[in-house]
Amino acid sequence: MSFSLPGAAEVFVVGGGPAGLAAAIAARQHGFSVVVADGMEPPIDKACGEGLLPDGVAALERLGIQVPASETRALRGIRFLTAEQSADASFPDGNYGLSIRRTSLHRAMAKRAEQLGVQLTWRTPISGISHEGVYLAKGMVRARWIIGADGSNSRVRRWAGLNRGSRPRFRYAFRRHFRIAPWTDYMEVYWSGKCQGYATAVSSDQVCIALASEDSRLRLEEGLRALPRLRERVDQAEIVSTERGAITGNCQFDRIWRKNVALIGDASGTVDAIVGEGLGLAFNQAVTLAQCLETGDLERYQREHRKLALRPTWMARLMLTLDRRPGLQRRTLQVFRRHPEIFPRLLELHVGTLPPLDLVTDGLALGWGLLTT
Ligand SMILES: Cc1cc2nc3c(=O)[nH]c(=O)nc-3n(C[C@H](O)[C@H](O)[C@H](O)COP(=O)(O)OP(=O)(O)OC[C@H]3O[C@@H](n4cnc5c(N)ncnc54)[C@H](O)[C@@H]3O)c2cc1C
Repeated sequence: MSFSLPGAAEVFVVGGGPAGLAAAIAARQHGFSVVVADGMEPPIDKACGEGLLPDGVAALERLGIQVPASETRALRGIRFLTAEQSADASFPDGNYGLSIRRTSLHRAMAKRAEQLGVQLTWRTPISGISHEGVYLAKGMVRARWIIGADGSNSRVRRWAGLNRGSRPRFRYAFRRHFRIAPWTDYMEVYWSGKCQGYATAVSSDQVCIALASEDSRLRLEEGLRALPRLRERVDQAEIVSTERGAITGNCQFDRIWRKNVALIGDASGTVDAIVGEGLGLAFNQAVTLAQCLETGDLERYQREHRKLALRPTWMARLMLTLDRRPGLQRRTLQVFRRHPEIFPRLLELHVGTLPPLDLVTDGLALGWGLLTT
């Protein structure tokens, strides 16, 4: 592939991961000329649980991204498991989530961007920005708008002076794929005193297993020993991908734009992997950002961005209260069993369909259950 970059673009997106491609697609849908540059080569892989909640699926559809049905699996809901107990809840209103291998998602997003006329340039790291444009090895491309979609360690964020924000509680995550027939159509979250495991079936013969903990040395194999039910599932299965690691946590920045630079996706802040929302959040941010670029109102983008992040961030905090607390994990699952209405309602809250007033009643029921269990 040869890349000849134009001298100028209305929108230049730094980073061609899911957030950058979503931003590019949405900006093209609003008529902007768009260039995307990424230092890597497609299809780009990354440590991820590879699940999309229903609102992420809806945003994917809004962006016109079609992942071949043979490369996705419908997700019915979420299941929590400890060593002895389990509880599950389906997504509300018959909605479904999707699991998609990162490489399949990347291929489908790049294809959609190309179809719309986005100029995609791979193996092209960006080395700096100014208000006139973007610097790369081959020179400078002038840009009216610069979008930083370069991930959680964003250099665009640093170059634009937007690094100030909350100090997150970081966790370390690792993932691998196992060749095994799926045993579930739920996104499964396995709890223990040491770490959490996530299992998502991504095809008819592959399951993605991810693990997150506060211990930077805890790799997947060792972590699985703390999760016997998950380990039993994959113990004999062939490993079909290399182990990839990433840092995860709730991280917010005071500002996500300055002059003609706006941040999106993990570059603009992250939510802990436990909620499985990073992708859906980025897709929804992309739709909003394109609208705001059209009116030139990035202050509105910042406001809408905060609103979008509020629920997943809060949900991640709530779920992380169970982290490394086996007693609380056990009691929570007991409450879910005794009051089967609570978990589905929490899932409604998770996916954004529960009115806040109902939450108060359910929160009280859960709190009372935990106290009396
Ligand atoms: C363990 C784990 C599990 C997760 N599970 C889920 C899940 O199940 N569901 C979900 O929705 N989310 C999940 N997430 C979150 C999700 O993976 C991220 O939110 C998502 O990858 C963010 O996409 P992004 O495009 O912002 O960043 P990235 O995917 O990191 O992409 C950034 C891109 O920028 C490029 N880049 C960086 N610097 C430059 C430069 N200077 N020049 C050019 N290119 C550059 C990189 O090459 C990369 O391609 C999980 C995260 C973790 C860590």
